Amino acid sequence: MSTYLRKPEWLRIKLDTNANTAEVRRNLRSKGLHTVCEEAACPNLHECWSRHRTATFIILGDTCTRSCRFCAVKTGRPAPPEEDEPQRVAESVQQLEIAHAVITMVNRDDLPDGGASYLAATGKAINALLPEVTVEYLSSDMLGREKDIAVLVESQPEILGHNLETVRRLSPSVRSRSNYDRSLNFLRIARRIDSSILLKSSIMLGLGETMDEILETLQDIRNTGCNLVNIGQYLQPSRQHLPVQKYWRPAEFVEIMRAAQKMGFEHVEAGPMVRSSYHAGGQLNSLLQERRQKSAQKPQTKPAASHQPRSPRKGPKDSAPKPQATSPRRPAV
Ligand code: SF4
Repeated sequence: MSTYLRKPEWLRIKLDTNANTAEVRRNLRSKGLHTVCEEAACPNLHECWSRHRTATFIILGDTCTRSCRFCAVKTGRPAPPEEDEPQRVAESVQQLEIAHAVITMVNRDDLPDGGASYLAATGKAINALLPEVTVEYLSSDMLGREKDIAVLVESQPEILGHNLETVRRLSPSVRSRSNYDRSLNFLRIARRIDSSILLKSSIMLGLGETMDEILETLQDIRNTGCNLVNIGQYLQPSRQHLPVQKYWRPAEFVEIMRAAQKMGFEHVEAGPMVRSSYHAGGQLNSLLQERRQKSAQKPQTKPAASHQPRSPRKGPKDSAPKPQATSPRRPAV
């Protein structure tokens, strides 16, 4: 029988609701859109919506075809995709003045392409309406199909993310239909298709993993050529979900972050409240800033290694993300 662990002090959530929270909610309802912030009961909702007025859109409905034991998103038979959803997301990004749009999706194993075309269409709709806005996808594994992963890569998001979620040993009991090696392969395939795209992954801690397993997982992710990694604390969304086995301490997150940095990740976000999309725009900005600083210091002699991504991206977004101080838009967080 599992024991219920009391939440430690450092996971106390500050409920700072304000007019922004209401505005974000009103906007999403009026557009008939969903966010992972609400569907997955993210503990950062109050911070992201009220303080930063940003949200992470979840497309293709609010019903997932899988039933991972850590996830609060509901499982069932999803409704058919809505053709105009990409445009509605783009309009919402515009109205909320979001500078870095993070788009995720429910698993759609019922669709022949797993929903890749809809995710790509959403990125393109944002690009068309708001060329200065940067786009990040957090994708399902597309059942490992290269052609569907290619559709995502070729739509040129600034960041393409896919989460490992947990360590190899726990993966079968934590994730449904997803698997550790297929997730690593997703990242490898994306890297092979585009040597310069920014790739991101995330894991959550607290499901019973050991420090050695965490480090092995981070190294596996890094070996795919992944650039950014986020590491956060798992929180049990309800009694029906997997119980928390351990609350990792903030100091342990710092230790893990340092180890990941040594592995060569360009940006590591680690902490009890970190989620895949937490401060996502700020991560992109700081990564690009670090690159600019490094390239200013380095003599331009050697070609970049094959997995080193371009920076910044080509096309109309060459100037994005702009230094936020000069941007008329809200700062990406
Ligand atoms: S961390 Fe991401 S999912 Fe959570 S509230 Fe913020 S934007 Fe939404």
